[in-house]
Amino acid sequence: MYIQLFIFIATFLVGIILYFTCSFSVSINSFNSNKQGLKVLLVGGTHGNEPSGSHSLLVLQNLLKKGKLKLKSGKVTIIHNVNPCGYYFDNRHYSVIGKKMDLNRMYNQNFPINKKIEKLVNKHDLILDFHEGWGYIGQQKGSIGSSITTLNIPFKQQKEILDLLNKDITEIDKKWLINDMRFEVDDSLREYAMIRKKKYMLIETTGQKNVQPLHLRIKQNNIITTYLLKKYGVL
Ligand SMILES: [Zn+2]
Repeated sequence: MYIQLFIFIATFLVGIILYFTCSFSVSINSFNSNKQGLKVLLVGGTHGNEPSGSHSLLVLQNLLKKGKLKLKSGKVTIIHNVNPCGYYFDNRHYSVIGKKMDLNRMYNQNFPINKKIEKLVNKHDLILDFHEGWGYIGQQKGSIGSSITTLNIPFKQQKEILDLLNKDITEIDKKWLINDMRFEVDDSLREYAMIRKKKYMLIETTGQKNVQPLHLRIKQNNIITTYLLKKYGVL
């Protein structure tokens, strides 16, 4: 009896501690060229079970920190771990204690992590939002894996990105596609960016449950980030 009560209280306390500490460990790093140019915000790890964006951004962050890559113009801000506890538990949600909390449904809701990101979105021109889908958009109905969804990014650039990504993919139904979904997901980062008329790209590798190896998904993310940063003269 006492043991059960102890376990209950201990779990509850750990939950409470995690709930508050998770939001403090989100890392935000800005790199400024001190020259006029595009301000780019890179956001990864919103869903903890979609890790490739986090890995890809962490590598870029380290290269910039060590000076191995230098910005030519504008500014880059990197948040590689929006949902550190979700990453640790390999879980989509920020919290599963009580109501499941999806951070990509928490914009404009006064939630601390999202509020930080909202302020950054307001100060940047282009937002890249890294996620991972459960399948292939060209293969399974309802899947958006291997797709990009954009706002205010020229079609030609989208097409060039797809060509780069698809160069080495031989199976037609596994090729990347443009997702032209018209419906909005309420209180998502995409909706927030749309209302503020930002350039925005939702990147969905095929990644959940390691459908494709992690190194391949990281490479796909890198191709997209590098293309856009170079296109806009930031790198
Ligand atoms: Zn996601």
